[in-house]
Amino acid sequence: MSFALTKELEEYQAKIREYAQKTVREYAKYMDEANDGGDKIVKDLANMGLLGMKQPRKFGGLELGERAFAIATEELGAESGGASHSLHTQQNALQLLYSVGGDSAAEWIERGVKGQEIYAVALTEPQAGSDLGALQTTAKPEGNELVINGEKIFTSGATYATKMVVLARTSGNPGDRQGISLLLVDAKTPGIKVQKLDLMGIRGAGIGYVKFENVRVPKDSIIGKEGDAYRGALKGLMISRNGYAGIALGVARGALEEAIVRAQTRKQFGKPIIEQEWIGFNLADAYIKVEAARLLIHRAADLLDRGVEATVEASMAKYFAAVTAVEVTRTALHVFGGHGLNRGSKVERLYRDAKIMEIAEGTNEMQLLAVTRLFQPKK
Ligand SMILES: Cc1cc2nc3c(=O)[nH]c(=O)nc-3n(C[C@H](O)[C@H](O)[C@H](O)COP(=O)(O)OP(=O)(O)OC[C@H]3O[C@@H](n4cnc5c(N)ncnc54)[C@H](O)[C@@H]3O)c2cc1C
Repeated sequence: MSFALTKELEEYQAKIREYAQKTVREYAKYMDEANDGGDKIVKDLANMGLLGMKQPRKFGGLELGERAFAIATEELGAESGGASHSLHTQQNALQLLYSVGGDSAAEWIERGVKGQEIYAVALTEPQAGSDLGALQTTAKPEGNELVINGEKIFTSGATYATKMVVLARTSGNPGDRQGISLLLVDAKTPGIKVQKLDLMGIRGAGIGYVKFENVRVPKDSIIGKEGDAYRGALKGLMISRNGYAGIALGVARGALEEAIVRAQTRKQFGKPIIEQEWIGFNLADAYIKVEAARLLIHRAADLLDRGVEATVEASMAKYFAAVTAVEVTRTALHVFGGHGLNRGSKVERLYRDAKIMEIAEGTNEMQLLAVTRLFQPKK
């Protein structure tokens, strides 16, 4: 793989960076304070024709691949984890629809790329987090309908979505991998109740608790083959995970850039603090980690674009980028001294966003677990 970006990727990066710096930089404060507004990010990108960076042209996309997705999440993440997470949720939904439904989901993918539908992703449940297969939400067939009952938590986009991508059991028993289906549900269907969650970071991404109480939807809400969604969903999540690593990379980079400027301009003891060894070394250490995270992400993206199974590589990228985000934002905040602690300052906001990178889209431990498979004896 070449590390250099192609001309098309460079052009895409320039557009998305301009949007991030001109619009997201200011809007991020509103998202954080109001814990609202992620839908604007999705709509803006759709209106600019930048949302479908990885979808094929036949679905209305730009067909630039996973590297473009990682570029987009990095650029938005450098301004706001919440804005980048909002983009990621839409893309995560589109990937799940495709990984489970293939071409049969074309209409919904195209509508998503154009921003005609804003999606929420409802997989995790109060009792089924890392162990997604333990989900308890049911969608029981009744004539031509399905009746959905259950609870979902940390559903990104839930507060503003037009449609929800829901994983539910249509047959079998809790714990079985078979019998799980992917549903596309109108968010306004009677019986759906959404409660906004007040999380410490990634604010504005519409994250909610969702209750389904006798929610009746047509049977053709099932995407792909009934009862056969689990493997496809895991594959979709694995692909999306690498884009999520891009958010963490962006959060780290955004904080580092702030800290470098601060260290160059803040004088103590008669000279800029960047001339103090601790500051310089720690910023250098942070810079190396940010660059290394980008290399891991683009390697996994390149493999995915070439159709290679890249579970381990995507997990390595997500793990390293998340750990880097936490470390680098902590260093950046420290460089600001007491001034970094002001609620809502960019570095303080990114510090809160960073911790979430180690939990959402699979915790650090789940990524490490994927990597340990490399060492297990072949059976
Ligand atoms: C901001 C945010 C956004 C999210 N967005 C979405 C979304 O859009 N849609 C969605 O469906 N979900 C979403 N999630 C949920 C997310 O995927 C889960 O939080 C995550 O998978 C962990 O599940 P859990 O929180 O239930 O933790 P648990 O699974 O209860 O884990 C608790 C702790 O135990 C550890 N642990 C668990 N099992 C093991 C094991 N086998 N080995 C070692 N350690 C283990 C975990 O690593 C963790 O540290 C989001 C979460 C957050 C925080």
